[in-house]
Amino acid sequence: MLSVEEALERLLEGLSPMSSERVPLADALGRVPASRPVAAHDVPPFANSAMDGFALRVADGGAARRVIGESRAGGPPAPAVEPGSAVRIMTGAPMPDGADAVVPIEEASESDGSLAIRVVPLPHAHIRDAGHDVAAGTAVALPAEPITASVIGLLAAMGHGDVEVRRRPRAAILSTGDELVPVGAPLGPGQIHDANGPALAAAVRETGGEPIILELAGDDPGEIERRVREGAEAADLLIVSGGVSVGEHDHVRAVIERLGALDFWRIAVQPGKPLAFGHVEGRPVIGLPGNPVSALVTFELFVRPMLRCMLGLAGDGRAHVTARIDEEVAKDPARRAYLRVRLCSDGAGYRAASAGGQASSQLLPLAFANALLVVPEGLAATVPGDSYEAIVTGAVE
Ligand code: AMP
Ligand code: MG
Repeated sequence: MLSVEEALERLLEGLSPMSSERVPLADALGRVPASRPVAAHDVPPFANSAMDGFALRVADGGAARRVIGESRAGGPPAPAVEPGSAVRIMTGAPMPDGADAVVPIEEASESDGSLAIRVVPLPHAHIRDAGHDVAAGTAVALPAEPITASVIGLLAAMGHGDVEVRRRPRAAILSTGDELVPVGAPLGPGQIHDANGPALAAAVRETGGEPIILELAGDDPGEIERRVREGAEAADLLIVSGGVSVGEHDHVRAVIERLGALDFWRIAVQPGKPLAFGHVEGRPVIGLPGNPVSALVTFELFVRPMLRCMLGLAGDGRAHVTARIDEEVAKDPARRAYLRVRLCSDGAGYRAASAGGQASSQLLPLAFANALLVVPEGLAATVPGDSYEAIVTGAVE
């Protein structure tokens, strides 16, 4: 059996980042930046006041000033501040010529056009210089992660209406099994709804990829072959679930082998274990186990880093923390377990509690889990009071 690290290394080996495209700012949320946008002008473009108050000259000391005009954001130009004078100024309004400090309105009083200040300001007080956020000509190295609202704000302030991002990797998703029917269709005897198709599509989207859901394939080599060809043509990566094991009706491995090249691994991971990996028409194809929890956990461990690599991102993009568990949860000693847990933080750190049954067919506990607790090979159960690594997959309170 391969370790998780060995399997991951092989999966990432031949991958390279996608090409880039320009998208309007309105569509940029969650996309991954592919270049450094250059500031065409200073941000802010002109020196302005950080406060409502009075723009004046420090050299005039504590003496009263004549208020000779006003500078407001977006208003007409204010008169230059000569010795002995001041200009009423609003937050964001341009600094008038001649002024070298702002006294906030709370520290000044104005009556009959005469201004008294309580404290002489330091030179430059409450002035925001032109370019104090981003200087003109700067090539801004954006965070290497999906674009957030803050990054969109920054780009907008720089005057950029669009941004160059990585193309989303298209991932074709194929569920296989004679027992499967699509959601919405009634169940006949012995049938179940396809849970993996919709779940994996959502996981792809969450990771920044674009899912293409293929029509279900039964446990029939010809049908699987047609769908795999279709997927390899339409997508950058193909994710198959079910039928990868060694049962009599598991045909996925043979099909990948026939159409391209196949690696088949047993990975020392629980849930999971069988994983098929190969290439068809130059596209990576990954075969996940059919049990929904196994499919989603192996997606998290293996496919998510693959998609991120195709987006030019390193790692899994998850917080890894240490969490204490106070109960004994059984596991297979031969494999590393990724237990579905509910994580919370108290004053002393993180605590994990089993999110429910740990069978790989139980989606309900997975739905409530916000972390995977990583319990190493060699242990037959968690040791109450011990701490383990936790991969945070959801919001933690
Ligand atoms: P397999 O990997 O094909 O041996 O399937 C293992 C288990 O997962 C079986 O109980 C299947 O019915 C179930 N299963 C396979 N594919 C899906 C799917 N797309 N949605 C829900 N359950 C599935
Ligand atoms: Mg099956």
